[in-house]
Amino acid sequence: MVATQPPHYQPEAHRRCPWCGSAETRFVQRGYTGPTDEVDQYFTCASCGKVTYELVAKTAREMRLGRFHAGGVYQDRANKTRYHVNRVLKVGINEYLIYLKPIVGPEAAPASAGM
Ligand SMILES: [Zn+2]
Repeated sequence: MVATQPPHYQPEAHRRCPWCGSAETRFVQRGYTGPTDEVDQYFTCASCGKVTYELVAKTAREMRLGRFHAGGVYQDRANKTRYHVNRVLKVGINEYLIYLKPIVGPEAAPASAGM
């Protein structure tokens, strides 16, 4: 067997961390049966440890509580990151997918009380 892949070949699942720019990421795809039963799609960064969501699944109830809508802002409090909501898609009787785009920049650090 001879390796014939060009040196620059990168699988499509190779993501770059939007928060620190590192390419040391591990991508987790939604919906495939496997060792994990993920409903969200995201990748984790080995450099800064942050999680970047591309898709998050919500129930109808969570959608109402969070008031998620296209053009809005989605906050990930666990990672202290924010995203633009690109699109909301209904995928089941009680399930929605939110398509997210990271908001990177100085405004990514919201002022929060109690710190
Ligand atoms: Zn990173």
